[in-house]
Amino acid sequence: MNAPFVLLVDDEVPFVETMTKRLTKRNLRVIMAFSGQEALEKLDKNRNLDVIILDVKMPGMDGIQTLGEIKKVHPLVEIIMLTGHATVESAIDGMRAGAYDYLMKPCDLEQLMLKVEEATKKKRDHEEKIKEAQVKEALSTHGL
Ligand SMILES: [Mg+2]
Repeated sequence: MNAPFVLLVDDEVPFVETMTKRLTKRNLRVIMAFSGQEALEKLDKNRNLDVIILDVKMPGMDGIQTLGEIKKVHPLVEIIMLTGHATVESAIDGMRAGAYDYLMKPCDLEQLMLKVEEATKKKRDHEEKIKEAQVKEALSTHGL
């Protein structure tokens, strides 16, 4: 599998920078955003993202609002919510709104890596199925 391509979104700058370094060392391709708005801009420029790691609690557009906007423009990208104890309820709302999974902060790197890999596989399998269906449809349209 090609390295998962990940967008890490959190308003805590040192957290994002540290996690990005650690994930990059584990051979992930990682880009950063520090707000929901910035996440949408990054997604717009990087349509081949596999997974978005998304903080629930951010000033301005929070994680749940950001999730909703992401799903509107890019329904196939998988989302892992990051939450503190106080916002587990929001993470559960996120799962109902289509997030792949959630993790409690501070999150264990191994656990995060595992979830990113699973989510990447799910996203790529899903994309592959859509491509296969499109090929079948094209063939049947041409009477083959
Ligand atoms: Mg936050």
